[in-house]
Amino acid sequence: MAQLRLEIVTPDQVVLSTDVDYVGAPGVDGEFGVLAGHIPLLTALSIGTLLYRNGNVEDLVFVAGGFAEVANNKVTILAQAAELAENIDIERAERAKARAEERLSKKQQDGIDIARAELALKRAVMRLNIAKQ
Ligand code: ATP
Repeated sequence: MAQLRLEIVTPDQVVLSTDVDYVGAPGVDGEFGVLAGHIPLLTALSIGTLLYRNGNVEDLVFVAGGFAEVANNKVTILAQAAELAENIDIERAERAKARAEERLSKKQQDGIDIARAELALKRAVMRLNIAKQ
């Protein structure tokens, strides 16, 4: 029986609110896993994949930065952006990837914000990885 509550919230919406057995999330210092009884934790998130398991069902969620809090058998993810795998728009991510690659290829000429383009590329590649799994 599930013993953990998982809530994933963005500035726009509640992306997921469900009972789970396990959550694996992309912390800035590396992936971390949460089972029932986990000690309280507050950490920043990187751009990556959150995995949750309930019984023998596993699902993936894209998360792009923000924070995770674990307390009282509840995992709260406050993400800048988050999408369930089935809601990822693959064509949009392909376009974002192409735009970011184009910007990065021109970095010598027009002084674009490289860090910003690299982050956009990372988001797009991660979305595509998750959507295609
Ligand atoms: P884009 O350039 O396509 O907007 P982005 O990486 O800059 O991509 P974000 O800033 O991460 O986009 O997200 C902005 C909003 O758009 C968020 O609500 C996010 O969930 C949504 N979003 C972005 N890309 C996708 C996608 N490929 N599929 C579904 N939702 C997406």
